[in-house]
Amino acid sequence: MDLCNRTVIREVLTRHGFHFSKSLGQNFLTAAWVPERIAAECGADAGSAALEVGPGMGCLTQQLSRQAARVCAIEIDRALFPVLEETLSDCDNVEIVQGDVLKTDFAALCAEQFGAMPVHACANLPYYITTPAISALLDSRVFSSVTVMVQKEVAQRICSSAGSKDYSAFSVYVQYYADAQILFDVPRSCFVPQPKVDSAVVRMVPYPAPPVEVADEALFFSLVKAAFGQRRKTLANALGTVLGGTLGKEGIVQLIEACGFDARIRGERLSLEDFACLSRTARRRLDALKGQ
Ligand code: SAM
Repeated sequence: MDLCNRTVIREVLTRHGFHFSKSLGQNFLTAAWVPERIAAECGADAGSAALEVGPGMGCLTQQLSRQAARVCAIEIDRALFPVLEETLSDCDNVEIVQGDVLKTDFAALCAEQFGAMPVHACANLPYYITTPAISALLDSRVFSSVTVMVQKEVAQRICSSAGSKDYSAFSVYVQYYADAQILFDVPRSCFVPQPKVDSAVVRMVPYPAPPVEVADEALFFSLVKAAFGQRRKTLANALGTVLGGTLGKEGIVQLIEACGFDARIRGERLSLEDFACLSRTARRRLDALKGQ
């Protein structure tokens, strides 16, 4: 069954009395080349498994089932279960579980479904939970790769570097954990119902260890958050919320200059390594103050 064919989609969904839910981000693919490419490029093979988020009516699940040894797909909407039972009836290596990606214990689910097999996460993510879903997948430390379709602007944000207009705290967060790359763009015309934005597929391959040393991850991420939280402010002013009470304004200026920057620099100019240097230096200065 061609699960991206518009006539097939309409016929099957009508027969099951299914109606698209906007609030669940239900935009289904109508271009077969997209799930084919995601399955081919996500890294899944006969020796590994695939964990899919949001199978919809199963077009990506079907492709993953041909590529991977086993597939487990998490779907929140019970109304899609009878549909999936029909559309994936030929796929013996697929298991569909009901659940919310944001409440799933991926380590437990993957151990139960796949044992010790390497697992690749894949999804055409619903727009309303893109960033928390990516964070949940990366934070779990379970996956060999995470390949997701997201709004094109989010994909650009994930992969952008210091100084670019798209660079954000989320870029730093993802690039701390994974090597991120945009694989290809997907125009809005490839979905039903058609969304208002274009999409892109991004692949993130988690590092065995972060590419930079930060000494204190909580401090590192709070400095990144503060630096981007007030983009229009200089870095010295933006860091006041985190370090003002301990280092004071003068101490923050000295910290920034000790890392080789002008104190008037804005946070968005700092690379991952620059933020790492800032956090290591801040940690040392805070420890020195504690020891006094
Ligand atoms: N994979 C299908 C495709 O590409 O045609 C459907 C993708 S559609 C953009 C998103 C899917 O995620 C829908 O099936 C929706 O019901 C499901 N979904 C939405 N929120 C979810 C959540 N919190 N947890 C798991 N699945 C969710």
